[in-house]
Parts: sequence; C-alpha cells; structure tokens
Amino acid sequence: MNYFEAFSEIAAELEEIEDRGQVAAYIPELSHVDPDKFGIHLTTVKNQQYFLGDSNTKFSIQSISKVLALTLARGLEENYLWDRVGVEPSGSPFNSLVQLEYEQGIPRNPLINAGALVVCDVLIGSLKNPQQEFIEFVRILAGDPDIGYCPRVAKSERLTGHKNAAMINLIKSYGNINHDIDLVLDFYCDLCSVEMSCKQLAQAFLFLATNGTNPLTGKEVVSVSRSKRINAIMQLCGFYDEAGEFAFKVGLPGKSGVGGGIIAIHPGKYSIAVWSPRLNAKGNSFKGMKFLELFTTRIGSSIF
Ligand code: GLN
Repeated sequence: MNYFEAFSEIAAELEEIEDRGQVAAYIPELSHVDPDKFGIHLTTVKNQQYFLGDSNTKFSIQSISKVLALTLARGLEENYLWDRVGVEPSGSPFNSLVQLEYEQGIPRNPLINAGALVVCDVLIGSLKNPQQEFIEFVRILAGDPDIGYCPRVAKSERLTGHKNAAMINLIKSYGNINHDIDLVLDFYCDLCSVEMSCKQLAQAFLFLATNGTNPLTGKEVVSVSRSKRINAIMQLCGFYDEAGEFAFKVGLPGKSGVGGGIIAIHPGKYSIAVWSPRLNAKGNSFKGMKFLELFTTRIGSSIF
C-alpha cells in the first residue's frame, strides 16, 4: 500500500480545518515551539518508510517516553511492577491526584504521571546509571545515537511541576516510592524531556509491531506476551480521559505527549508517529488525533 498518497490527501484536507487548541505552556520551556509544525512518519515492519512535513525535526516527546520506561522496566525480571501499578484506564487527566488517595498510592496505570513516577522508582532501583542506561536503550531501539535529553525542558518542568511533586509525596506516604523523592523527580523530568523526531519515534516503537523484536538488530526487546500487554495498556490508557475516543476513532494502540506528538502501532504492519503542537482540552494533539482518525479510516486500518 502506498501510504504517501493518503498522507498528502489528508494533509490537504486538514489545511481546510482550523487547527484548534493551545501549545502546552504549563511547562514554560515547551511554549517556545512553533505551533504550526506538522510531521508524519510511518515505518512498516518490512522497513518501508513514508513521511511528510516536519518528520525529521525533533520535539519534546514528553509522556510518550512513559511507554519506553515501562518497556525497560518490564525487561528487568526482578521487579514486582504489577503489585505497585495497575493496568486500568484512569478516565481522568494525566496529572490527576484524586484516585491516588482512594486507591492508597497504587496508580491506575503506568502511562499517567503517577504510574510513571513509580516506574521511575523501579528503574532507579534496578539500574546502575538510570539516565545513561535509559537513553542508550532508546538510541538502540531507534537505531540512532543522535537522541538525548533536553536539560532546559527538564529544568523547566522540575521548577514548575508542583503537581508531580505533590503526587510523588502522596504515593510515598503510602510506601509505594522507595527512593529519594528528588532523585525520582529528576529522573522523571529527564525522561519527559527526551527529544526525538517522528522518524526516530516510528523506528523506536516498531518492536511493538513485530511481537517485541527490534527489527534493526533482530534481538528481543520484550517477549511476545509482554509486547501484546504493552499494546493493550496503550490502547486502554495511552490518551488519559480520551483513550476511549482514540480507540473509537483511530482504532490503534497509541500514546500521546504534551509536546504534541502521538505514536500509534498497527501490530504486524507498521508504527506511525505524528507531531502537531496544538493540544486539545485533554492534552492530546488536536491535529494529530484528527490526522490519525482520517488516515486509519481512509486505508481501513484498525485492530478491530
Ligand atoms: N512532563 C509532563 C508532565 O508530567 C508529561 C505530561 C504529558 O505528556 N501528558 O506533566
């Protein structure tokens, strides 16, 4: 299938629609992005590449990194991750605190901020040098050494992320954070600050379309069963309180970030990354969601 034709047609269609929403500004450093950027990159399991627009420009991947952190944690045998984090959709915003008290410090899932903070705590407990090992892991998945943290974004979030600080204190009060709070928050903010292009993201996530194997190296990243489970979690929890909407309209497992990026996977076929910085009220890319809806509808691609 020549996906490029569908890309161009849909991009032209989207030009007619007003790109609504706001660039994330609650992390001050994110507000400097050009709101009109728009990129798409699709990589098939047979290594065909289709792209359009700003697909090679790096942006802040933000919460998309939560899937990669989970993947790395799941690869480390000795942790008891699922005793500490659930796998249920939250139905609430990514930075919500309310469920945590009802559910005694066990976050609903690893793709909301609370769950990712626990995953960071697990990684700190299992890795010698978490920052270095995490970024190396991402570089290998993407097959590209040119990926790193953005210290400006990490610092900006660290200084203004009062909700995340409240959240981790609450989780720790229930005994579900083992390490020093500052250490975990530093690591969390670094993870969110990773910068990647649509091209790098599509490649890095392709293992979820190939049953857990890195198609570049032929090595297993996670087992077949874990790869299915990560896709299941993305399907149910990847878009916070808009996960149902994404399943309904797009029909693929995926994950968004407040930098305006979205990654989506069609197991057995392809991974696709889209980037457009203006966010809807739920914190997901307005145009990115729209594009993926039109794309999967046009080409008849859905896991359902
Ligand atoms: N770094 C952001 C935060 O913790 C990530 C949120 C997101 O991308 N949804 O608020």
